[in-house]
Amino acid sequence: MAIELDPQALSLFTEGYDKILQGLARLGYTTHDDNFKDTAKRAAKGFHELVHDQNQVGAEVDALLAKTFPAKYSEMVISKHNTCFGICPHHLLPVIYRISLAYIPHDKVLGLSKLSRLARMIARGPKLQEDLTHDLAEILHTRLGSHGSAVYIEGLHMCMAARGVGAHEARLITSGVRGVFLDQATTRQEFIKLVVAPQITVV
Ligand SMILES: [Zn+2]
Repeated sequence: MAIELDPQALSLFTEGYDKILQGLARLGYTTHDDNFKDTAKRAAKGFHELVHDQNQVGAEVDALLAKTFPAKYSEMVISKHNTCFGICPHHLLPVIYRISLAYIPHDKVLGLSKLSRLARMIARGPKLQEDLTHDLAEILHTRLGSHGSAVYIEGLHMCMAARGVGAHEARLITSGVRGVFLDQATTRQEFIKLVVAPQITVV
């Protein structure tokens, strides 16, 4: 199911970007030349692509969780270093995330690409990184019906890197664990060790 853009939200975003262009003109930028011809519309579309409709996201997650496969495997399944995008609720500026997810299956596993898709879906919206971490951990434990879940997120926040404190090297790190990852320190440590190890690709 492809995520669709909402025409009414799009037109409200376009009005907002029209105002931003007026602000830029006031600061001496020539916002009436051809470079800016469809900028408000284009920017609105770009913004909408970072903030998906919550109802559609909910339906997409339901569909994704409905497609599981029976499995005998009951060890850790990890999807590591997924690059995802969202925006922060305080400044509406982009955040680049690197998300690692894990769960321990009970009797069913998700399809190969599903963990990456899930991370990307849930990240898209104006939400705190802390809440994103919580939401992903909950979905992979409670809703998937697993023995436990673990989430580790590094976030590069434009509101911190490009303005404000100018901390472009700083990454915000959050982690969330549920079930066996919460109860067993060794399982949690194994997960952290695997996700913080430098990425060495197989090909
Ligand atoms: Zn912010």
